[in-house]
Amino acid sequence: MSKGTASMGVRSGKKTHLYCRRCGKHTFHKRKKRCASCGYGKTSKVRSYTWQKKKTLKRVRKQ
Ligand SMILES: [Zn+2]
Repeated sequence: MSKGTASMGVRSGKKTHLYCRRCGKHTFHKRKKRCASCGYGKTSKVRSYTWQKKKTLKRVRKQ
């Protein structure tokens, strides 16, 4: 079976993500042993990107 909608029923009952110990979100991958949100388990630094932040008014006007 492919990994489309039809195969999603097979995944029922299995947890892929658990609560993250560092950020508290439900984004810690059980098998991969890393957090999708903060990168816990993968990096010691907190995963963060500039594009996450909403652009401030100051930055938009600057051109
Ligand atoms: Zn996390």
